[in-house]
Amino acid sequence: MNLSEAVRAGTEYLGRAGVADAQTDARLLLEWTMGITRTEYALDPLRVMEAEKEQVYLEYIRKRGRRIPLQHLTGEQEFMGLSFHVSPDVLIPRQDTELLAEEALKALKPGMDVLDLCTGSGCILISLERLGKERKAADETNIFIGSDVSRAALKVAERNKARHQADVSFAESDLFENLEGRYDMILSNPPYIRTDVIGELEEEVRRYDPILALDGREDGLYFYREIICRAKAHLKNGGLLFFEIGYDQREAVTDLMRKNGYREIHAGKDLAGLDRIVTGRYDIS
Ligand code: GLN
Repeated sequence: MNLSEAVRAGTEYLGRAGVADAQTDARLLLEWTMGITRTEYALDPLRVMEAEKEQVYLEYIRKRGRRIPLQHLTGEQEFMGLSFHVSPDVLIPRQDTELLAEEALKALKPGMDVLDLCTGSGCILISLERLGKERKAADETNIFIGSDVSRAALKVAERNKARHQADVSFAESDLFENLEGRYDMILSNPPYIRTDVIGELEEEVRRYDPILALDGREDGLYFYREIICRAKAHLKNGGLLFFEIGYDQREAVTDLMRKNGYREIHAGKDLAGLDRIVTGRYDIS
């Protein structure tokens, strides 16, 4: 097979398996197998594959056909222009979540202490530290802490910290349980899917993202209630709380923040025009 034949065969197979973007995934898996870029592929699509590479590629295609996410095959996902290591122990970083990171970056200032709850792969915290320093919104006086209840997730986060040589630290904690002190900014993309909806998610998410990272319990709002209430003891005066939310949770989350005395409560939409973040500020009085 040559490269373009391989992509064609892969696309057909994945299409039959019900993979949403079969052609893109077939091409990406081919590029991954061959260790080539998209441009290299485009420049020489008739290049013949060695038999060995062909076998490796077809095995990836078979696995993807079983709806294993592309990112679990490559072990990589890009977020905010940085490449992160991922595994089945962490939620695969979503492009939608870049909105949370972008808005947090806008509010970030040198010297701020930042806490990321439910950090997972660490992608939000690490991109905040890296890009914050690049954009002079942070310096070496900032403190960046990420916490997660999952020790397995924190191992992935530690690998990402090393990969990007990020000046961040991670703590194993069930929300605020093992955390002390107050922060200028608390961020979280907590689990927010209603338990009864999880069965309806696409197969890649339902079967391969960790359920711990998805399940927001009966009404999907469990973690917002907990964090909004308990963050009051962990925010400095005028400190900021930044959430990612589900598309139908803006009202509930803004209400919870209002009732808990937060001010400057704003919501933001993602590229699809869906409500995706809620932010607010808390004064200790
Ligand atoms: N956005 C994720 C999804 O599409 C859910 C992430 C979360 O619960 N924090 O499944």
